[in-house]
Amino acid sequence: MNDTVIRGRLLAFHRRPEHAQDHDAYVYEENGAIRIRDGRVMSTGSFEALGPLPDGILVQDHRPYLLMPGFIDCHAHFPQVQIIGSFGAELLDWLNEYTFPAELAYGDPVHARTMAAAFLDSLIRNGTTSVAAFCSVHPQSVQAFFEAAHTRNMATVAGKVMMDRNAPAGLLDTAQRGYDETLALIEDWHGRGRQSVAITPRFAITSTPAQLEAASALKELYPECPVQTHLSENLDEIRLAANLYPQDEDYLGVYQRYGLLGERTLLGHSIHLSPREIATLVESRSVAVFCPTSNLFLGSGLFDYKRNQARNMRIATATDIGGGTSYSMLKTMDEAYKIVALQGPKLSPLESFWQITRGNAEALSLDSELGTLETGTYADIVVLNASATPEMALRMQRAQTLSEELFVLQTMGDDRAVAEVYLAGSAAKSAMS
Ligand SMILES: [Zn+2]
Repeated sequence: MNDTVIRGRLLAFHRRPEHAQDHDAYVYEENGAIRIRDGRVMSTGSFEALGPLPDGILVQDHRPYLLMPGFIDCHAHFPQVQIIGSFGAELLDWLNEYTFPAELAYGDPVHARTMAAAFLDSLIRNGTTSVAAFCSVHPQSVQAFFEAAHTRNMATVAGKVMMDRNAPAGLLDTAQRGYDETLALIEDWHGRGRQSVAITPRFAITSTPAQLEAASALKELYPECPVQTHLSENLDEIRLAANLYPQDEDYLGVYQRYGLLGERTLLGHSIHLSPREIATLVESRSVAVFCPTSNLFLGSGLFDYKRNQARNMRIATATDIGGGTSYSMLKTMDEAYKIVALQGPKLSPLESFWQITRGNAEALSLDSELGTLETGTYADIVVLNASATPEMALRMQRAQTLSEELFVLQTMGDDRAVAEVYLAGSAAKSAMS
């Protein structure tokens, strides 16, 4: 027995808050504690309720900071760490001018390993304990990514992008190679430690019908594997997809025809949707992944979070590094708030913090393991300090409620507000500095 107790003000959600005052949606303990054994949560509650602790038990006291489940990022590209903040392009030009040249370097396993470590450490510094990531077309980039995640004991979903047209020759596989390489990665990594392999056709534009057929065959063979791709981010992209797949009614119809929709399917962006596409997304229980900083940065459009939620669409949120401009899920929800505000009713801070913890775990179908701090789940924890900068401390002098504190964290916070991060019970942020 090697127990640890982490102390702080404890907050975790057990369902989505319906409105800004929905205080039944979460548990909050002012003098809270999490008892951890073998990397998993053994119990949570008040510190007093733990009773007398045996001698020698390690107690990490983070009071008065807030303890929450670690944040989850549902869409990011690790080979894009060096092109964040590249100027002046919309999606298709951005891919050709910046993304594809950068991704060409990931055939080199040494470069891939260096960048995978940098990417995961940046996420951890920002309080993110799990990510769904796109690697490059090269299987060695996926190997490098999973090795880095496995070493950190970090739960990730990742896949080799399958792409067999409309990109430089050095980034193309074939339908057969995409299939074979993804299959080999599934056999090697799916379920090893905390890693899950996603079937990852980049998007309809860079996959031939034969390749989407291959992705479909993989999904049939491994229904437990997530599928991740992109959908309707940009109007030029939608026009090009329609030209390449003229027989389909709309963009989502392409993925639908190949049997790629379902509970484990993550569709990055999903901004510009027809009523038929919305109905199909909802009915198939596929997940629309909202990437606020990226959608603003690339001028892609405004995701209709509130209306889509009212339609019972499953929604996740994500950074979309490197189209996205921040590794921080706090900054991500700050921009999400502004996008929602431009379209009507406001996004409450309770809902934001539900979204980036339990909400995103549910979107990944991983809520039995992550995002909740329930007994038996992994002890992936973020420790938050809402007074981390002089400006935040000034603002916090007038904050009265938990919701206000959360809103200050979201609006003014970044990696500096993340005091510590635990991955399966082990301190990860302090360990790297
Ligand atoms: Zn993306």
